Amino acid sequence: MSGKILIVDELATNRIVLKVKLSAAYYDVIQACSGAEALSLSACESPDLVVCAPTLSDMDCHSFVQRLKARDGLEAAPVIMFLHTAHHQARLDALQAGADEVLVKPVDESILLARLRSLLRQHQVARDLRIHAGTASALGFAESAPRFDRTWHIGLVAHGQKEAVALAARLGRLRRYKVKPLDPESALITPRDGAVPDLYLLRVCPDSRDATLDLIARLSTSPHSRKRPIIAVLSPQASSLLPGLLDIGADDVIFENGDSRELLLRLDRQLARAHKAEAMREQLQTGLQAAVIDPLTGLYNRRYALPFIGRLIDETGRDGRGFAVMVADLDHFKRINDQHGHAAGDAVLSQIARLMKSNLREKDMIARIGGEEFLIVMPDAGREEASRMARRLCAAVRRSPLHVISSEAPLNVTISIGATLGHPRPDAETPKVDTLLDEADRALYGSKSGGRNTVTFSRRPAA
Ligand code: GH3
Ligand code: MG
Ligand code: MG
Repeated sequence: MSGKILIVDELATNRIVLKVKLSAAYYDVIQACSGAEALSLSACESPDLVVCAPTLSDMDCHSFVQRLKARDGLEAAPVIMFLHTAHHQARLDALQAGADEVLVKPVDESILLARLRSLLRQHQVARDLRIHAGTASALGFAESAPRFDRTWHIGLVAHGQKEAVALAARLGRLRRYKVKPLDPESALITPRDGAVPDLYLLRVCPDSRDATLDLIARLSTSPHSRKRPIIAVLSPQASSLLPGLLDIGADDVIFENGDSRELLLRLDRQLARAHKAEAMREQLQTGLQAAVIDPLTGLYNRRYALPFIGRLIDETGRDGRGFAVMVADLDHFKRINDQHGHAAGDAVLSQIARLMKSNLREKDMIARIGGEEFLIVMPDAGREEASRMARRLCAAVRRSPLHVISSEAPLNVTISIGATLGHPRPDAETPKVDTLLDEADRALYGSKSGGRNTVTFSRRPAA
């Protein structure tokens, strides 16, 4: 995995040694010898990850991390901070200051590289999601606010009853977690009540090495669990497994004999990360859906409908099968608004939308493309079939009394339809989306001037 890594260290020899290691692993490396230089370099270079020495000459490391993460575009860039001491409090202080990982010098190269890969992977996933979700919100849909005040369910797999009980007891004391011991088989299936754990915690000892690696690989790819964080808890004898666990899919690895406050902080971080990713996925889903759906009627809008016709034109060019395009417009709709109010007009629009949709075939597409104007596209339909459908729609609307709150008597409404065909033309010219819409519109005008409540076909196409 490639990425741009910024090394911040005042000692040139340290920077060079680290640069050689990282370059050998195919990372782009940039360097800074002070906090200030690192901050200004970050602004123009946007590193994907920052590695920071235990001390800086011009500022303390904690405020460096805080200032770095306060910058636009760098708030999510992971930071690995080196420490001189493995002391619990020093680790915790660095993590709380904003470091994403702390490694004690001298740093084991395989652990450093595994942490780098893992953090970059998580960073990349988050960035991709932000780009997509940002596109959705740029289309006009607000971000949903994250909900974080809830009890989290942790699935605990421990390979050993005694260890499971000890770990569950330790977690149980930690605030808002509900711990459910799981055996490896049950972790791999979707629970019957659908309550998939929010996070999987797996205890790893040398004896359970292969089984745990296998379990992590499967959990990180199974549909029910792959978006849930997986944290491995290592027994002190199993420390050599750390790089392998991260590479196979664990999102974090912590030591069983570590500080409970650090365990808590890491659990919270992983839960927050997964929760945010989930919120962005939801936002993307609703945003994209909302971008192509008309909120009043639930039908597609113009943004969806026009490319749909474009795709049918392409297909028709390939397989010669034709399709019909119709524009349906409510007759004298202005009068409904004038006599019964705008809300009644809205109710009529949504009832007519439902009525027309229920009369169409499954494969037909109906969209609201204007105030009281609908576009209907019928794939695989010739003139006869389209004509039958258009008359059926007119009759269905005419015969259906519509109920609105502002009027005791049901309202009677009619529609006029203009239609054209998207068949290959005798002049062999492929029709364009705009041409078809123009033809249907002109035909609609014919229906209006011919007395309304009727169907007119465009005169131009020949099937
Ligand atoms: P015609 O038979 O010639 O189509 O007459 P019409 O009254 O239906 O057409 P006109 O274009 O004169 O008026 C359309 C009306 O549709 C005017 C506008 O107030 C109304 N309208 C457009 N969008 C909406 C909407 O979203 N809700 C409601 N209630 N009315 C709408
Ligand atoms: Mg009208
Ligand atoms: Mg109109």
